[in-house]
Amino acid sequence: MAHENTAASSRRRDMALRPWLAHLEATGRLAIMNPGIKLKHELGGIANRLDGRKATLFPAAGDSNISVISGLLSDRNWMAESLGLDGAALLEVFQKAAAKPLPWTEIKDAPCQQVVHDDGDLLSRLPIPTHNEHDSGAYITAGLLIVRSPATGIQNVAIHRLQVSNARELGVLLLPRHTLAFFNEAEAAGNDLDVAIVIGADPACLLASQAIVPLNMDELEVAGALGGAPLEVVKCIGSEIRVPANAEIVIEGCIRANARAPEGPFGEFPQYYGERAERHIIAIDRITHRHDPLFHTIVGGALEHLLLGAIPREATILDTIRRTFPSVKDVHLALGGVGRYHLYVQMRARHRGEAKNVIMACFAAHYDVKHVIVVDEDVDIHDPRSVEWAVATRFQADRDLVIVSGAQGSKLDPSTDDGYGAKMGMDATVPIGAPEFRFTRIRVPGQDEIDLEARIDPSVTLAALQGWSAQSGGGSRR
Ligand code: MN
Repeated sequence: MAHENTAASSRRRDMALRPWLAHLEATGRLAIMNPGIKLKHELGGIANRLDGRKATLFPAAGDSNISVISGLLSDRNWMAESLGLDGAALLEVFQKAAAKPLPWTEIKDAPCQQVVHDDGDLLSRLPIPTHNEHDSGAYITAGLLIVRSPATGIQNVAIHRLQVSNARELGVLLLPRHTLAFFNEAEAAGNDLDVAIVIGADPACLLASQAIVPLNMDELEVAGALGGAPLEVVKCIGSEIRVPANAEIVIEGCIRANARAPEGPFGEFPQYYGERAERHIIAIDRITHRHDPLFHTIVGGALEHLLLGAIPREATILDTIRRTFPSVKDVHLALGGVGRYHLYVQMRARHRGEAKNVIMACFAAHYDVKHVIVVDEDVDIHDPRSVEWAVATRFQADRDLVIVSGAQGSKLDPSTDDGYGAKMGMDATVPIGAPEFRFTRIRVPGQDEIDLEARIDPSVTLAALQGWSAQSGGGSRR
């Protein structure tokens, strides 16, 4: 096993951030804007207009001399491509990386520390945009927040929304997950918790930060496994935290013990605002960055936001339900369900009732899953029209519907009572034992093999066709 890792470390399979941008440009997927685009709403508006079609680069954004980038991973296939993978392999590679992370290697003289600022109005050095209408102000939205467990020293990496409260303070929403668990340990002992915020990380780091892995697993090691070789890291100047050496910008500071301040509202992935409340505070000590750094921003609710959450969850959900149901082939968190709430499942059901058991397993796999639709292997779960066709023609509500009342759901779903709500599953598979011909999908034999180019004659026009007249046949209009 050891020699495998050594061999892999000679060359990463994934692309670092700057080569990925260059690749997007070379393939017509990067739009470069005029300098000085306004940080408040204009930048987010442009990024949204091009969302899913082109990544955006804003040279010297606002009145800064730093450029902003957005929409780098706003398509599922782009994510796979940035990792050097085929789209179909994405979930499997993600599962393997989460199961078998690769320890990082430490270097000195890292690009992310070429320039160091440790005095002045630190956050005012960065071009931090304001995106949605009722956001409380400017937010850092694509920052990998890294902390270390006070007990074990093992790192955690996650993306949290970070409100610019003043020139040296951020308001941070810590949901009840790993960052908060580490902070609570520190605060119980009366201590602040050191933090590093990494902006402009490589695609593998961004994706790995969303991996659903156990506490005390450093997501930077998942990034190494995702990219095919150990990630290079560097020690922060003011703490023991290791950050990706190749990053564009690093903010060093601490989450303050026994201090809270208002944060929010902020436009979130369900296309609604997360509310304003008393939240944790990060005090900033220092900012380090590359020469001419790039500032990455994710527009709240844009495809990059939806997909970064969806794909790692798909990998985890698939892994979980396959342990009991190997008949499940694939899962997809549909974008219409904001990449969290609507799960489409493709399976080969062999037993009566099996699809309903799969529905129940899906509800248990992640509390955000709200509606589940199970279909057969002839249905493309990445095509919502195909899934709807299965519901239209294979589903009977009195026979195939599962409803669970009063379950835990997403607190950001405004139709729930603070996350307390209902689940619904639809079994849209063909009933076991149904006559085969009844559910045979129509098709024209040989259709896909026809060489269409060879059959089209571009030299002939309508007028040249013998017997053709543009006049309607009867000569009189009705
Ligand atoms: Mn974690």
